[in-house]
Amino acid sequence: MDCRDEPGSDGQSLQTASEALLDPDEPKPVIFDNEAGRSVFFLTCDHAGRAIPRRLDGLGLPEQEAWRHIAWDIGIGEVAQQLSRLLDAAVILQTYSRLVIDCNRDPKVPSSIPEISETTEIPGNRGLTEGARTVRIDAVFRPYHDTIAAVLERRTAAGRASVLVALHSFTPVFKGVARPWHAAVLYNRDPRLARSLFKLLSAEAGLVVGDNEPYAVSDLTDYTVPVHAERRGLPYVEIEIRQDQITEPAGQVAWAERLARLLPAAYAQFLRQ
Ligand SMILES: [Zn+2]
Repeated sequence: MDCRDEPGSDGQSLQTASEALLDPDEPKPVIFDNEAGRSVFFLTCDHAGRAIPRRLDGLGLPEQEAWRHIAWDIGIGEVAQQLSRLLDAAVILQTYSRLVIDCNRDPKVPSSIPEISETTEIPGNRGLTEGARTVRIDAVFRPYHDTIAAVLERRTAAGRASVLVALHSFTPVFKGVARPWHAAVLYNRDPRLARSLFKLLSAEAGLVVGDNEPYAVSDLTDYTVPVHAERRGLPYVEIEIRQDQITEPAGQVAWAERLARLLPAAYAQFLRQ
C-alpha cells in the first residue's frame, strides 16, 4: 500500500473486499479510539488481536495454537488501551491475528502471510493464490493502515504534532532460548526518542531493557514505523514488552502507568536535543 493513497477514496471496493472475507457479525479489523485525545502521542497496536475470519476455518490450526504468541502479542492490547486513557492519547488496534496477515509487514514480503511461524506450520496459509492474498490485504491490512494514514493527515492538517508509539509484546522463550529483557526499545533511522526512553526505562529498579534487541526495526521486518513515522519525519519509538510481564491485569496496569510516566519525560528530553 502506498501511504499517500487517499483513505476512503475507494470505499465501495474496500467494502466489497471486506465482505469477501468477513461476515457482517464478525469483528471489524480496526479498533480506533479517542481521536479527540489531546496527547501528542498516537498509539498503534499491530498485533493486538487473535481473531481469525470464520471463512478461513481457523487456518487449519489446532485451537491452542491460536492462543499462543505466534497468533498475537499477548497482553499488549490491554496495555495500549489503558495507556490511551492515562495519556489521553488516540489509539488504534488491529483485531485480527497476524497469522491472517501481519499488519507490521509490507504485504509484498512473503512472511506477511506466514506459512510457518516460529516452528508451527500454518496449513491455511500454504500456497495461497494472489487473489487470496489480495482478499486478506484489502479486508484486514488496508483498513488498518488507511486509518492510521488518515488520522495522521488530519492531525497535520489541524496543526497538531504527532509522535508515533508502536506497541508490541514478545514471547519470553523463542525457539527454546530464554530472553533476559523485560522490555525493549526499537528504532531504525531515527533513534532519538528511543534513546531517551531507553535511558529512562533502564533507570527503573529491576528492569533489564533491550536496545534494539531482541528485534530491531527495518523496512523488511516492519511496516508501521517505516511507513507512517519515518516517511513523514515523525518522532517515534517502538516498544516491546515481554509477555510474562503483561499477561495478567496487574502487570498491564503497572506497565501502562510506567509508560504514561516515562513517555512524556522521554519526549521532553527529545525536544531539548
Ligand atoms: Zn508485535
